[in-house]
Order: sequence, then structure tokens, then C-alpha cells
Amino acid sequence: MSDSTAEYFSVVLQPDEDESISHYLGRWKRQEVVSLSSIGSLSRQLKLGTAMSRWEKFYLNPFPTLKQLEQLGKVMGIEGDRLLLMFPPKGEPINVRIIRLCCACYDEAPYHRMKWQFQSTAACEKHQLRLLYKCPNCEVHLPIPAEWESGRCRKCQMLFRSMIKHQKTARTYDLMDTSVST
Ligand SMILES: [Zn+2]
Ligand SMILES: [Zn+2]
Repeated sequence: MSDSTAEYFSVVLQPDEDESISHYLGRWKRQEVVSLSSIGSLSRQLKLGTAMSRWEKFYLNPFPTLKQLEQLGKVMGIEGDRLLLMFPPKGEPINVRIIRLCCACYDEAPYHRMKWQFQSTAACEKHQLRLLYKCPNCEVHLPIPAEWESGRCRKCQMLFRSMIKHQKTARTYDLMDTSVST
């Protein structure tokens, strides 16, 4: 990587606690200093190919290597180890196509938490609410977190934070359940 590339990405975007890799990559790519062409040349230079777009969809097989994360982290200005924390722990089963959301958490801080995708998570422990996986108004599934720029349903435009009244109270078994809540 040349020094001139590093200059493009001198602004470090701080990740939030438990922010998922998909949400973080989306935020990172939408920064003004990051253009589509620079992402393309970044991909080529780092030989990450389509890895970044797979990670946005939580396609994590093969799991990212520490070398890939260190290369990407160097460009983003954060440690490869910190990037790794935005992925599920290796071996933790996750939901890939069904994106989930606790609107109460989102209202407090608008980002997607990695643990919502764990198959072992059926509810938000903090708010004792079951997670939503589709818009309660139009029933469209939630978009991948990389596309959560507006915090709204992509079809009916309902705000994520106003979906909270549709979240059901979690019962004890939800907090231990391993299946997707319905
Ligand atoms: Zn919550
Ligand atoms: Zn909707």
C-alpha cells in the first residue's frame, strides 16, 4: 500500500460497543473521505476481493484472517484486533439472512449490535424485549446493517425507534432460547 492511500483515510471512525462489522463497514464507507473508487482500489490493493461485501452480509465462511483484518485496520486507522471484536466469536452460530433489532437499544444508540445475530440470543437482556426481525407495519425483513443509514424500514419508511411498541416482552425462556423468535 502506498503512503498516498493512507492519507485518504486519516480520519479514524470509532466503533461503538458491540457494533457489528456490517454496521461499521456501512458507516465507514459513507464517510465523505471514502469514495467508491477508493474502496475499489483498496480492495484490489489489499487483495480482499469481495470479502468486505461478504462481511456486510455476515457471510463469514471463510472466517476473516487476522492478516486481512490487520491490512484493513491499517487503512482504517484501527487495530486488527478491534476489527475482530466486531465479528462474532469464532464458532458462535449466527443468523445470516435474518437481521434482528432491539428498538429500545437502537433508540439509546443507533447501531446494530453483533450479539443480536447470535442464534443463542432470542431477546434483549437489557430491555427484556424480544427482538424484531421484520417491519411490524409492512412485514418486510430488515435490511443488512450496512444499509441502516436512515434507521427506517426501506419500504414503508417506519422509523426503527418507533417500532418499539411492537416488541413483545421477553419471558425467561426467550432469554435462554436458541431459535429465532417469531
Ligand atoms: Zn435492548
Ligand atoms: Zn415497513
